[in-house]
Amino acid sequence: MSAAAAKGCPDWKGYRMSLKERAEKYRQSLEHKHGWEVELECGQCGYRGMPTYTGWTPKYATGFGKSPTIFAVLKCARCGSDLEAEASSKLVKMFSEVEIPHANRRILVSFMVYALAMAVVAVLVAIFAGGLWWLVPLLLLTPSCMLIPLFNKRVASIRATCECGDADYIFMGMLGRAYCFRCSNCGRLLKLRD
Ligand SMILES: [Zn+2]
Ligand SMILES: [Zn+2]
Repeated sequence: MSAAAAKGCPDWKGYRMSLKERAEKYRQSLEHKHGWEVELECGQCGYRGMPTYTGWTPKYATGFGKSPTIFAVLKCARCGSDLEAEASSKLVKMFSEVEIPHANRRILVSFMVYALAMAVVAVLVAIFAGGLWWLVPLLLLTPSCMLIPLFNKRVASIRATCECGDADYIFMGMLGRAYCFRCSNCGRLLKLRD
């Protein structure tokens, strides 16, 4: 306990630190293992095989609908051409038909139901109560925003297991706002939304 806390003052520094640590833990639990383990055909030289993976680049503008976003930096193993376009179309081919698992759907639906219920209560309070009661909707909506990390963590926990018993999911990219994974051990495809 710091001196400030001992005196009965809120220990803001300590509080901030623990929030930072918690945020870091949270980030780690959601962290993806980037990579690429499927063959691609080079549009330049026609070579077909495993591309050279040289890391990944962060991209913040994720696509809409079903447009693919590839984070992996992939080069042709023969001529060195950039294979982002090839990887994009491969991702669409591989994951378009993959369904989001039931467990993931349940989490999304339960969050939406909760947020909707809160919003309805908030609106009712705003309509039927006067004065400063208009503050109540804000207070009711805040916890539902705080629940988002919890829901995201539950979604992330889905990729902790695989049918092969040894889950090792490689993040291949995004289709729209869905995350596309492939188990390195058994090749199982997994598409998640959070
Ligand atoms: Zn090539
Ligand atoms: Zn597996």
